[in-house]
Amino acid sequence: MQPFEYRRVTDAQAAVNAIAAAPAAKFLAGGTNLVDLMKQNVERPTQLVDISRVDLAKIEGLPDGGLRLGALARNADTADHPLVRNRYPMLAQAILAGASAQLRNMATNGGNLMQRTRCYYFYDPGYEQCNKRTPGSGCAAIEGFNRIHAILGTSAECIATHPSDMCVALAALAADVRVGSVRGERTIPFADFHRLPGTRPNVDTNLRPDEMILSIDLPKDPYADHSAYVKIRDRASYAFALVSAAAALELDGNTIRSARLALGGVAHKPWRSEAAESHLTGKPATEASYRAAAEQALHDAKPYKHNSFKVELAKRTIVRAFTLAAQGGAA
Ligand code: SF4
Repeated sequence: MQPFEYRRVTDAQAAVNAIAAAPAAKFLAGGTNLVDLMKQNVERPTQLVDISRVDLAKIEGLPDGGLRLGALARNADTADHPLVRNRYPMLAQAILAGASAQLRNMATNGGNLMQRTRCYYFYDPGYEQCNKRTPGSGCAAIEGFNRIHAILGTSAECIATHPSDMCVALAALAADVRVGSVRGERTIPFADFHRLPGTRPNVDTNLRPDEMILSIDLPKDPYADHSAYVKIRDRASYAFALVSAAAALELDGNTIRSARLALGGVAHKPWRSEAAESHLTGKPATEASYRAAAEQALHDAKPYKHNSFKVELAKRTIVRAFTLAAQGGAA
């Protein structure tokens, strides 16, 4: 691990001042991903700015009926909060599907958004080729073992997936990310927060280097009664998604008034499918409708040598998630 300077701040203004003064610094909150990457010499910050004692852990209702999740609220506390469980049960399910109880007790909401891919080649500096770790070096996964990699939105530079479960639900719920810097605050729609790899896979998000996540804001939505998160993985717990689906329905009897769908484990960012959502609008809530929507969602899928199974798996996961959502959301 590269030596680094440690600094603790206790308010948000001091935090953004510190990062503005030291562009190679990183914020430290739960540390559940960053510290691992530092031990592997993948991340090499010269300074850590510890923000874990900054007062950004509240979960509170918004005047418009939405909900604000503090960036530093722990994942476990977020999943267990009555307002999250009652108004956004799909989000609670997604959080609880991720990591382990111990990690969820440490990991923060902001950190969940910032976690990096679990591509094996990215994590192991013994592999020289990784455009995400070393821009311009190539991508070992494209011709290598790519069972866990992306099938949508890839580029010739990177085929990594985003690892978060929580973020898949946040994409389906059309959250906003409120961020701050020495220049003030701004809001980033969730769909624009994470990036596709393109020619710069080393850049995961559209968060500027001197910005700090303040909160994740959820709009009021009509999906609490009919939503579900379904995660398919190699073992029952403590594993990343091969494929996951966050699905929500607004029903008028058996007719779908509106739908939401986002997928995990298939792209460099949580993959919301507005094509599938549009397809479902006005259709009956039946397996045939869900299957047709799944075909829309995977229409542009481009599998690699070891992950073609993900295409059909994703379609079946979508059908399962919508079926559960229509039944009331138990996953
Ligand atoms: Fe690196 Fe992305 Fe290729 Fe993995 S898929 S080796 S993260 S460039």
